[in-house]
Amino acid sequence: MHKVIIIGSGPAGHTAAIYAARANLAPLMFEGVVRGGIPGGQLMITTEVENYPGFPDGVKGPEVMELFKKQSARFGTEIVAADVDRVDFSKRPFRMWAEDKEHAAQTVIIATGAQARWIGLDSEKALQNRGVSACATCDGYFFRNQHVSVVGGGDTAMEEANYLAGLCASVTVIHRRDSLRASQIMQKRALDNPKIKFLWNKVVTKVHDVEKGTVTGLEVKDTKTGETSLHETQGLFVAIGHTPNTDLFKGQLTLDENGYIVTKPGTTQTSVEGVFAAGDVQDHVYRQAVTAAGTGCMAAIEAERWLAAKGAH
Ligand code: NDP
Repeated sequence: MHKVIIIGSGPAGHTAAIYAARANLAPLMFEGVVRGGIPGGQLMITTEVENYPGFPDGVKGPEVMELFKKQSARFGTEIVAADVDRVDFSKRPFRMWAEDKEHAAQTVIIATGAQARWIGLDSEKALQNRGVSACATCDGYFFRNQHVSVVGGGDTAMEEANYLAGLCASVTVIHRRDSLRASQIMQKRALDNPKIKFLWNKVVTKVHDVEKGTVTGLEVKDTKTGETSLHETQGLFVAIGHTPNTDLFKGQLTLDENGYIVTKPGTTQTSVEGVFAAGDVQDHVYRQAVTAAGTGCMAAIEAERWLAAKGAH
């Protein structure tokens, strides 16, 4: 029987582990190695991180995650390189199964994160972190005074386009239809911005130039006429949505209409008392490593207080 089991090993999971371990809760962490999970989370596929406080010269994503892991291991977190396949939160102790082995815990902290959706092109994948990004807040700064493009027609795409317009020479929104899905207010802000142009009824079919290792332009196809053309651009921001890694929790916890775990405002408490959620799995607004770490800290403190209130710690 564990006092705390942490599922997920990104900034939220490891920060929860550091706080839980230092509170003498001997946490067990499942890192996630198979389905959906990348051990270490989304920073493992990020090259340069310039906005994590404490690293004035920037740091590589995998390097900072190695430091997170070292810090949670230092205080005695037991880290298991396995994915949790099934959970039962219907009664306490909570139970979960990883590679057919059963584990029980008094509290659970879920930090399984989310994944950006990609268009699905080989050239898009090859140029990720080399001009292709799914996060304007993270990478926009690298494209100051350059010409960039955003794919998508929802609120995220409008938000990214508006943010980039404040940094870049121009922003072109490429959308597959002739009307936007985004809310009226977000649409208006983007449509009224003189730095933002729109390419309607277009999909990106290829990102140039894989051989050069940098983005020089996009092959776009008109969804009405089938014609293809070249759109010159120096950066591509894919903003077609995110998928939270919550399949495991369907039917166990309350999820919102987009699949994110619902937490009580101002806390990390889920719909099941004693189960907490931190990081991108419950946050579609900020999606930053530092906010994930912040909510990971909250989850560990809340778990510790919950155990103390139950007389279990
Ligand atoms: P959405 O699902 O709302 O929008 C995704 C957009 O991407 C759609 O316009 C869709 O086109 C397009 N798209 C999807 N797949 C592809 C593809 N393969 N190729 C090209 N285009 C594609 O996702 P968002 O991330 O924008 O928003 C998610 C949720 O978060 C929403 O509820 C949104 O309102 C909310 N949100 C709110 C914000 C705010 O209020 N400040 C900010 C950001 C998000 P199509 O329209 O044709 O389906």
